Amino acid sequence: MGTRWSATLDAEVGMDLAALQRDLAAAVTRVDEQMSPWKPASGLMQLNRAPVDDWVDLPAEMLEVLACALDVHRLSDGAFNPCLGALVDAWGFGPVRDLPDAQAIRAAHGSAPVHADQALVLDRDAGRARKRVPLQLDLCGIAKGYAVDLMAEVLQRHGGRHALLALDGELRAVGAQAGAQPWAVALERPDAERRAVQGVIELQDMAVATSGDYRRFVEVGRARLAHTMDPQRRAPVNNAVASVTVLAPSCMWADAWATALLVAGPTQGLALAQRLRLDVLFLMRDAQGLTALGLGRFGASADH
Ligand code: ADP
Ligand code: MG
Repeated sequence: MGTRWSATLDAEVGMDLAALQRDLAAAVTRVDEQMSPWKPASGLMQLNRAPVDDWVDLPAEMLEVLACALDVHRLSDGAFNPCLGALVDAWGFGPVRDLPDAQAIRAAHGSAPVHADQALVLDRDAGRARKRVPLQLDLCGIAKGYAVDLMAEVLQRHGGRHALLALDGELRAVGAQAGAQPWAVALERPDAERRAVQGVIELQDMAVATSGDYRRFVEVGRARLAHTMDPQRRAPVNNAVASVTVLAPSCMWADAWATALLVAGPTQGLALAQRLRLDVLFLMRDAQGLTALGLGRFGASADH
């Protein structure tokens, strides 16, 4: 996943920290090996290579992520789409190239199915999936959150009750700190030039994910292209949203919704978040600089 994981914990007496570290690393590696587009042997790439209508045996973890991706796809009216692999590659964010390629962009234009849930059939009982049309899956908008959820399971299996688990901008708190203080997480100010803090989020038995346009992008001339794609325009997202932060018990859910709402943009995104009662913070760029708009647990506090 091209990033690092971390686990901060108040350990229980007698915990085997070396074994815990080994098992946490194994959980992250498992997700990477199943869902990375950079690994030709991953389940994801096997499914991408498979002919249309051929069943492909897949691990239960990957099927769980695919099922959630399709749920969010449906609920977000297509803003989240796990079938954008060719488009992501064409714009220079996948394993194929580092810069956008006009020919590939044209070729990818018609390639992403609008209705991902009709284009992909999951058979979770039999542990397999098949494509109904040619498509390239990309789970980078959701897999990191899932890996964090697996880390939380591993930690709890080892008897851990007080931890903060993180992979990039995806985090999950197991319990609070041993002294009953919630875990404090800094929310980054969306600024590509420097790292600064926008606010502090307190977490207890809760996950948080942030998607933004300011950390991973490609610069072409003076244009800055975001790595999140707007499936309707078939191009990098280009709206007033600088970042979206979502709180949810499941980090996979938070991760997928942060991506979905960044794509949906200020108007539709806020309406969607309201309808689904999501706990979300939008940071919007405007003439004043940044404006924060929070819903649910982000609605009450003036801090954020
Ligand atoms: P981050 O890696 O910054 O946490 P996200 O969670 O928003 O970013 O995921 C962005 C990645 O998801 C992109 O690099 C791409 O691989 C994939 N992606 C791009 N556009 C979409 C989309 N509309 N729906 C789902 N996944 C997407
Ligand atoms: Mg995401």
